[in-house]
Amino acid sequence: MPESAQTKSRRVVLKISGECFCPADGRGIAMDSVMHLAAQLASVAQKNIQIAVVMGGGNILRGGQFKAANAAIQESTAHYMGMLATVINGLALQDAVELSGQPTRLMTAFPMETVAEPYIRRRAVHHLENNRTILLAGGTGSPFVTTDTAAAQRALELGADILLKATKVDGVYSDDPVKNPHAVLYPELTYEAVMRQNLRIMDQESIAKCSEHKMPIMIFNFRTEGNLERALQGEKIGTLIS
Ligand code: UDP
Repeated sequence: MPESAQTKSRRVVLKISGECFCPADGRGIAMDSVMHLAAQLASVAQKNIQIAVVMGGGNILRGGQFKAANAAIQESTAHYMGMLATVINGLALQDAVELSGQPTRLMTAFPMETVAEPYIRRRAVHHLENNRTILLAGGTGSPFVTTDTAAAQRALELGADILLKATKVDGVYSDDPVKNPHAVLYPELTYEAVMRQNLRIMDQESIAKCSEHKMPIMIFNFRTEGNLERALQGEKIGTLIS
């Protein structure tokens, strides 16, 4: 049945950074963290919410970390290594989500066909319409950007209702809340304010694209129990940029 003939499902793109795959201040993959994340995704996916997850890779490697080194690894090579890190996270998340009872498809931005499906927009939409949670690995497939850029791009091309960004902070603050006890959390912001104040949520170009296409972005703390489910189900938490 075409989607238009059904009750329209909510469709979200969820960006989860690599730090969601390990305990606070940890590195690598801790399967209990991944299982916790997966159980929440699976429970929401079973409530008629279409979820496309864009995984980061910072728990394993970020391309930028090799910049200052003695250049034995070229920066662009390092970014490809970072993109591969997101595939490692995707494989771990796939097994965890399926163990929680929710079908998935892992799709990569560059071909790795013995490991996962290539990302093809129409196929991704088809999976979502068939209630498969899609896990989008490999970022954009191009170096020198981050998975935030990929998440904004996928939210636009998949026609998501919202782009959700799970982070370790409660939302967007006027200043660094760790350094400045007077920093205030903004419950809402306009795209213009984010760009004008140069608030580091994601790169300016992605913010501008979301603004141009009126794609709302919500930033929230994934470590607060229940937040991930609340955000996926449409509750307003953290900071909403629209
Ligand atoms: N990356 C890239 N192109 C992309 C997405 C990611 O080159 O389109 C590389 C980049 O080096 C990045 C790394 O992959 O640092 C891991 O992604 P990211 O830093 O976004 O992970 P997160 O901070 O969300 O865990």
